[in-house]
Amino acid sequence: MSKQTSSRLFEQIALIGIGLIGSSIARRVKRDGLANFISVNARSQKSLDKAVKLGIADEITLNQNNCVKNADLIIICSPVGTYAEIIQNIRAGIKPGAIITDVGSVKQTVINDLSPHIPDDVHLVPAHPVAGTEHSGPEAGFPELFEDRWCIITPTNQTNKKAVNQVKKFWQSLGSNVEIMEPKRHDQVMAMTSHLPHLIAYTIVGTATDLEKTLANEVIKFSAGGFRDFTRIAASDPTMWRDVFLNNSDAVLEMLQRFSEDITALQRAIRWGEGDKLYELFSRTREARRGVIEAKQEKMYD
Ligand code: NAP
Repeated sequence: MSKQTSSRLFEQIALIGIGLIGSSIARRVKRDGLANFISVNARSQKSLDKAVKLGIADEITLNQNNCVKNADLIIICSPVGTYAEIIQNIRAGIKPGAIITDVGSVKQTVINDLSPHIPDDVHLVPAHPVAGTEHSGPEAGFPELFEDRWCIITPTNQTNKKAVNQVKKFWQSLGSNVEIMEPKRHDQVMAMTSHLPHLIAYTIVGTATDLEKTLANEVIKFSAGGFRDFTRIAASDPTMWRDVFLNNSDAVLEMLQRFSEDITALQRAIRWGEGDKLYELFSRTREARRGVIEAKQEKMYD
């Protein structure tokens, strides 16, 4: 099963969580020989068995301490609300000199939860691949998920520079472009570009399904008129997104406040028949779409 290749970046990688993101990493690492050995932990035996069946795990274990004990790179790929417990379970088993990183969609609370418990000779390098789909579980992953997408690394003042470079190289090998950002800044940017759009999608689909039964059925039937795209986003994993909102509450609430003010202004423009205001906004937003396409960020993943 072991493979000696020149592209190998780490001897052994431990993945805690083998859902969409963890299994996409594992597939790419296996495909390109980026590590010699992958040990995998998840919450359930069922997911671990699937990982073996998919050929993306060399070792599986429900014991998190055993999973990390020989790893040079540990990647936490579970919902961000699980991190505080995970670090308690693994801290004693982490090898001196190892790097611990993650893929969580929120960064400041992750750093707050992890950093006080990281042993002195271990390097914490928080990261977030800005790539995903609405699907979850080990079968949902694919090796090209991170291709041409951003991975944001959010080191703290204490983070070892060599370790940051190794994680950077790792994500570049997965096909990503890497950006270094302050954790707080990351959380503000993501609140606008990812968290608020998900909240809006969850709300719209929730409102639609609360409608009186016949109307709700027709909304589903004729969903091509824009609603369909919201249902895709609102199908995203409930545990992951609950944890995102609970862990990025300040930034999300700030963006939500601005959004509420803007939607109230639109409501007023519609009520008073102010077509020029509507036209001006819709023209500006069309430009924003062009910017997204030019930045090559228009793929269906987020
Ligand atoms: P997912 O498909 O739902 O997979 C989550 C994995 O975490 C599963 O293998 C699950 O095990 C495992 N898990 C849950 N609780 C655990 C625990 N206490 N200890 C160990 N493993 C545990 O989720 P995902 O989409 O890969 O998301 C994982 C992380 O990536 C999240 O932090 C999320 O914020 C981040 N992220 C997600 C996206 C996205 O679009 N989905 C994009 C970028 C970053 P079981 O299967 O056994 O329950």
